[in-house]
Order: sequence, then C-alpha cells, then structure tokens
Amino acid sequence: MQTSLAAALAGCSTTSFEPAPALAPIRARTDRIFDIAVCLRPFRPAGPRVETERLGDVLVVHNYGHGGSGWSLSWGSSTRAVQLAMQASPTEVAVIGCGALGLTSATLAQRAGARVTIYARDQLPETTSARATGEWTPDSRIALVNAAAPGFAAVWEEMARASFKRHRDYLGLPGTPVEWIDQYAVSGGTPRITQSTDAASSNAIEPALAFASYARSIRDLTPRWRSVPADATPFKGTSVARGEIMVFNIADYGHTLMNDFFIAGGQFRRADFRSPSQIAALGKRVVINCTGYGARALWKDETLVPVRGQIARLIPQPEVRYGLVYRHVLTVPRRDGLVVQSFAGGERQGYGDTNEAPDRAEAEQAVRTLAELFTTSA
Ligand SMILES: Cc1cc2nc3c(=O)[nH]c(=O)nc-3n(C[C@H](O)[C@H](O)[C@H](O)COP(=O)(O)OP(=O)(O)OC[C@H]3O[C@@H](n4cnc5c(N)ncnc54)[C@H](O)[C@@H]3O)c2cc1C
Repeated sequence: MQTSLAAALAGCSTTSFEPAPALAPIRARTDRIFDIAVCLRPFRPAGPRVETERLGDVLVVHNYGHGGSGWSLSWGSSTRAVQLAMQASPTEVAVIGCGALGLTSATLAQRAGARVTIYARDQLPETTSARATGEWTPDSRIALVNAAAPGFAAVWEEMARASFKRHRDYLGLPGTPVEWIDQYAVSGGTPRITQSTDAASSNAIEPALAFASYARSIRDLTPRWRSVPADATPFKGTSVARGEIMVFNIADYGHTLMNDFFIAGGQFRRADFRSPSQIAALGKRVVINCTGYGARALWKDETLVPVRGQIARLIPQPEVRYGLVYRHVLTVPRRDGLVVQSFAGGERQGYGDTNEAPDRAEAEQAVRTLAELFTTSA
C-alpha cells in the first residue's frame, strides 16, 4: 500500500494557518542538470556495526553499515565508537575512512584528547558520503524489521538524539553547513516526514525485506506537518502540506569537518588496505574502522548489502529555500545545487544493486515530473 498524501494530511494540524512565504519557482529544466551522482548505501539488516574486535594487540572499533542514515546518525554512532576506543586510554588513534563516520569519529577522538591520523583510500569529496542527498533522515534504510539486532531500537534512539544535538552546533556557521528549511508535500507525491515514510510501499512488495521505522520515538525533535492552502503557493497541486526539516549542505559540511580536523592537528594518510593485517601493521594500538561499504571486502562482512541511490543536481537557485516532495520526486535546495532524487521504486529501490553508473534518463524524468508543479519555468 502506498502512503498517500491524504493519509498524511489527515494527521496534519489545520487549526493555526501560518501563511506561506513568497516561494520562488524552481527552474525545472533538464538542461540545468550539471551533475548526476550514484552511490551505494552501506546497509546491514542487523543495523550498523559498532563494536570492538581484537587484532592481536590492536583494539579495532567498528563503526560502519549506516545505510541511508550515515550523515544523520554520524555523531551519535561515532560517540559510541569513540567511547569504546578511549576505554583503552590511547594517546594516538588511527581512523580508517574519511567519510561522514570517519570524520566525526576523528573529531570526537581529538576532543577526547587523542592525536588522530585518518588513513583512507579517498578523502571526503570522493566518498559515498559526498554523494548523499543531505537530509536529517536518521532511520532511512537503517535495519530490517525482522533482522534488527536485539535492543537496536533503543541504541538507535540514543544515537539519533546525540547526533541531532551535534548537528545543531553547525547551524549558523559560515558556509551554512547545516540549516533548517521548509519542505512541501504536494498531492500526487508521498509526503516525506522521513525517508522511511515510503517503507509502507516496500513492505507491500516483500514483508521479509521491510525496513525498520523508528522515527516515532523522536517525534519531539522535528515539527509536525501542517496543511497549507494550495492557492497560497506557486505549486499546481490540490493538497499541500508543509513540514520543517534539517538539511546538510554536504560540500560545506564536509569542508568544515575536514578543516576542523586539520586545525586540531589531525593528519591524513592515503592508504588502500587489502586485509586487516595491514591495519594491524600500522603500529597503532587503537583503530576505528569507518570504511562504510568498503568493510564488505576489507572485513569480509557479507551481511553488508549495497542499496544503490542516485541524485541529480540542478544549477543552484539561491532564491529557492524550500524542499519539495511530489510524485515520488524529492527536491532539496542545497547550496551546492538543487538536489533532485527519484524514489519511484520505494525505499527498496536499488536493494542489492552494485551498478554505480549514472542513469541520465532517470534524472531527466525526475526533473520533468518536478516541472509539472510550475505553470511557467523561467
Ligand atoms: C543517494 C543517497 C542518498 C543519501 N542520502 C542521505 C541523507 O539524506 N541523509 C543521511 O543521513 N544519509 C544519506 N545517505 C547515506 C550516507 O551517504 C551513508 O550512510 C554514509 O555516506 C556512509 O558514510 P561512511 O563514512 O560510513 O562511508 P563512506 O562515505 O563510504 O566512507 C568510507 C571511507 O572508507 C574508505 N575506505 C573504504 N575501504 C577502504 C580500504 N579498503 N582501505 C582504505 N580506505 C577505505 C573510503 O575511501 C572512504 O574514505 C545517502 C546515501 C545515498 C547513496
């Protein structure tokens, strides 16, 4: 069963109407697509792996497998990982990986007093993390209902709450790494309170592969959706709802995290590890493993499943400061480009798919769908 806008609106508050601000139309034209990026979400049916392992004298703390929620959960998951690492009272810590999880682990280990070196094949701009949509979606593709580890729901909530607090520290900074935006859901689309709202459609396809949904337990962190009269907006739609969501401007957030890491004395070494024994040979007593999907090959973790995802970016329009969900197309007004993402196949779209080749036709179709909402495109 597809989650309908009507169902979402049924839960909307209509008592106090807050007028919509003047909303600039999006220039939804395929010739404005300047980038199409594909990445594989590092999904584990049990949930992320955050635990220790001994490699001889070396304490390895794993911190990988965050599916579609790696940015959202990064600080909370890395807080747990760094607590495990610091139990050994190291003066030096090696972090393997320079994506969202690696950088937040490295930063937190520095704050805990350790000297930190990041070893990674790629720096952030080349990682999966750089190709994410950039929304606060902490339970997007994070575990399977029937396979989540015992007690994971409580661990997830703790991670989500801890992350939320840390992301707030990046609001209002130069470059706007993090900001709040209004997001509109227009009839014909699936309102996206979190990405997991379309889990219902995947449940209908194959119950054994239903993604876990935990957002209810942190309802207090995000405002409710409210209905808005369609004629108070520029959208050609019959029903419109508005919510507020936290957005990560990935380019600026990554840049800020990298700069802060180096300013605090962090070191970066390019390295491509073929086996855990090469990591043990680094000579560091404590290592935090943040290799994302790379852990499947490096740590032979065959429970990691790739979930392919694609985003297209339209030339930025600084005057557009709102997001949109319309007919399974999500638009996010990131500062480094208007992100357009199709989720026509539901949350399970791309499950098990390792194809990282961009699909131009999919991107153009999403932009044409978005264009339906505007009477004229400038
Ligand atoms: C289309 C799409 C949209 C998404 N949208 C969102 C969103 O809106 N919000 C959200 O919270 N999340 C989102 N995600 C999920 C998020 O991008 C991931 O969960 C997150 O990027 C994982 O980060 P990571 O640091 O674990 O892995 P990565 O970013 O992949 O980093 C892994 C690091 O490890 C290194 N590495 C790997 N193997 C080795 C090796 N053998 N030797 C040396 N180095 C190695 C890599 O070079 C890299 O530096 C999205 C994902 C996709 C695909």
